Amino acid sequence: MRYYSTNGKAATADLRTAVTKGLAPDRGLYMPQSIAKLPESFFDGMADLSFREIACTVADAFFGEDIAPEQLHRIVNDTLSFDCPLVQVEDRIWSLELFHGPTLAFKDVGARFMARMLQHFTGGGRRINVLVATSGDTGSAVANGFLGVEGIHVYVLYPKGRVSPVQECQFTTLGQNITAIEIDGVFDDCQALVKSAFLDTELNSALVLTSANSINVARFLPQSFYYFNACARLREQGISEPPVICVPSGNFGNICSALFAKRMGLEVKRFIAACNANSVFPEFLASGSYSPRPSIATLANAMDVGDPSNFARIWDLYGKDADAIRADISSACVSDSEILGTIASCYRSDGYLLDPHGACGFKVLKESLREGETGIFCETAHPAKFKETVEKAIGGSVSMPERLAAFMKGEKRSVPLPRDFGAFKDFLLNDDK
Ligand SMILES: *Cc1c(COP(=O)(O)O)cnc(C)c1O
Repeated sequence: MRYYSTNGKAATADLRTAVTKGLAPDRGLYMPQSIAKLPESFFDGMADLSFREIACTVADAFFGEDIAPEQLHRIVNDTLSFDCPLVQVEDRIWSLELFHGPTLAFKDVGARFMARMLQHFTGGGRRINVLVATSGDTGSAVANGFLGVEGIHVYVLYPKGRVSPVQECQFTTLGQNITAIEIDGVFDDCQALVKSAFLDTELNSALVLTSANSINVARFLPQSFYYFNACARLREQGISEPPVICVPSGNFGNICSALFAKRMGLEVKRFIAACNANSVFPEFLASGSYSPRPSIATLANAMDVGDPSNFARIWDLYGKDADAIRADISSACVSDSEILGTIASCYRSDGYLLDPHGACGFKVLKESLREGETGIFCETAHPAKFKETVEKAIGGSVSMPERLAAFMKGEKRSVPLPRDFGAFKDFLLNDDK
């Protein structure tokens, strides 16, 4: 499979290059040149297949030309060491629980897959440096996905004072091949530093750099696995009409994977992108023009993104046609007070505990669902990851799962840096010695 750049000014790349480089040389995002449709027979029999069997079939369709089946299936099976169950919350509303992985957030799926694929492509040779900007959950998922993987070093850049204490512990206490860098700025500054690093000629000749943000094809494509599985599990419950899928969105990587699943033949009625106060995408749908801006801090902080990097992929996938996008996707914003209100009311009436991100998804889905439709929203993180917010909402205490409590016991270590590219570059050059 060849991968082209959404900016159209770079040569196409093979899978190895797309995975190890992350971003195309013209700053565009890589897209597969074709998206294989899965056969009717696969969809007909899907309800009888396990999550891993479904994931292996989908992985073959994306990556089968470039990686032998035994190796690819080993990567898939190692990645999916946990389930992504579909849990009924209300009569017609189901929660796709994506928080059962090691760091209790959906990014575990993509991060674990990418770490294994990168190892597959790079084994031996020079040290690979993975740069990742995080607004909270990406850093922990990537750091844990790569922890102890030989020949790879991970740098996690996070905005000072803007990630929750639990999130911070999940990447600052690991040690080994993980270095946490605390940037005096917001998430967009962290993302800008990472993007600049990939474009810096001197840095790239001195070091082998790669990205683990949701721009990497090895991170975003595997996320489609759980959308196929969700539809299979729904069918197993006797619900065969295509569902509405609502995804709490920040960088729009997760929803983008769902859109790819549809291109591969998965029947989805329509999509909803649930946003917090960062309203660039809903405004784009309303006006047809895309105007990025600095992010606003909210209670659903993993969605605090003012310039969603995967917008370029959606724009490209729909042939740069806003009406085509509108035909498939709607979008709405949820304020901080609505997040708190939704966590409280869902807990009270349905006995289901939402996290602030899932709360955005649940609220927007519930308000948009029409007569006769069945809806699935992604519950993207475990509520205990946002203990303070959730406890405030329900006026009660939230217990900490063992896996999460374990992170809190480690010693925190991070390198403080200004939001200045020169300082970041010097640090990297001196660190990889
Ligand atoms: C990253 C994240 C999101 C947003 O996902 P995108 O792929 O960036 O749109 C939503 N919820 C949680 C908990 C996250 O960590």
